[in-house]
Amino acid sequence: MRALVTGGAGFLGSHLCEDLLDRGDSVVCVDDLSTGRMNNIAAFANHPRFSFQHADVSDSLRIRGRLDLVAHLASPASPPDYHRLPLETLAVGSRGTENALKLAAAKGARFVLASTSEVYGDPTVHPQKESYWGNVNSIGPRSVYDEAKRFAEAISMAYARSLGVNVGIIRIFNTFGPRMRAEDGRVVSSFIAQALNGDPLTIYGDGQQTRSFCYVDDLVRGIVAMADSSETGPINIGNPVERTVLELAELVLELTGSASPIEFHQLPVDDPTRRRPDITLAEDLLGWHPRVSTEEGLHHTVAYFRAHAREVASAAMSIAGSQFEGVHTSASRQGAPAMARLA
Ligand code: NAD
Ligand code: UDP
Repeated sequence: MRALVTGGAGFLGSHLCEDLLDRGDSVVCVDDLSTGRMNNIAAFANHPRFSFQHADVSDSLRIRGRLDLVAHLASPASPPDYHRLPLETLAVGSRGTENALKLAAAKGARFVLASTSEVYGDPTVHPQKESYWGNVNSIGPRSVYDEAKRFAEAISMAYARSLGVNVGIIRIFNTFGPRMRAEDGRVVSSFIAQALNGDPLTIYGDGQQTRSFCYVDDLVRGIVAMADSSETGPINIGNPVERTVLELAELVLELTGSASPIEFHQLPVDDPTRRRPDITLAEDLLGWHPRVSTEEGLHHTVAYFRAHAREVASAAMSIAGSQFEGVHTSASRQGAPAMARLA
């Protein structure tokens, strides 16, 4: 199979490229490096079945030769990234998705859209099933991402219905693992970097909001299962084990052995209060189920961050300024061991 992965130099995209190469596929990766980086693809950049194009898929997308799969992952994904790149996020969700769909139509390729649990907004239904239409503020600060992805789903379905494109939509829930940028501002990367640096862990709000964290290997297996199927979806892919952000912070402190205190900061506008995928469809239609617990995944991710000590150390400043204004409470963790050290 010959696959195009847009956003292939990003966190998830680079793992997807590697997985496809490992099983014998050829991979073309297109990325504008706006939130991705060449380091993510360094391990396989010279692979004979891999090629890289530095391009913005919102401008145009031209690939020579056969394509069997277009996996469209290009988009800023971390809240600080899409707040910094609002117009680019809307462009890649709309024009970028249409360019990728046109290419899939022209090549007769399967098209897989990396959509998101953000299409459910701040959900009033729990856990979230694919049949739930969501609760999104269309003019709030998160809307550039949420509505871009909702448009991406809509245009994908329109290409499926009117042009017969073989579309598959997956809704990805919070995923973490190696190759996340230490300074990307997402909760798992931030907490691990803060714990390893001995800096306070920055909890937004009271930490009682929930998320369900999926390890990257499981997630990529889900994308590949969707690519290999003929399901249209949308299908949720995520780990259904839900925990509060405060529980996550405590788990990170325990796994790193860090003595960092916890600080409470202002909750960002429209931050969803709870999120957990119903994965019945993924289990029934794709035979997919997560295999890696959040604890085990965190263990691997901490090891990766320890191995990238310089990046983690220099992330401290940018994480601190990423999303919040003003500390309003502070708490120290009692009885924690001495400050964590970077390897
Ligand atoms: P990421 O920021 O690490 O990767 C996104 C990649 O897309 C980057 O390499 C970036 O440079 C590239 N990109 C952005 N705009 C582009 C453009 N116009 N042209 C070409 N390349 C462009 O984020 P990620 O976590 O790997 O997310 C990948 C995809 O999965 C995104 O579409 C995201 O919305 C979706 N997703 C991720 C999560 C998650 O928890 N990681 C959750 C839900 C959905
Ligand atoms: N969060 C936090 N501290 C951080 C970063 C994020 O408490 O340093 C919270 C954030 O407010 C949200 C949750 O953790 O409630 C998950 O945030 P993330 O940005 O990782 O993903 P998303 O909000 O897109 O689910």
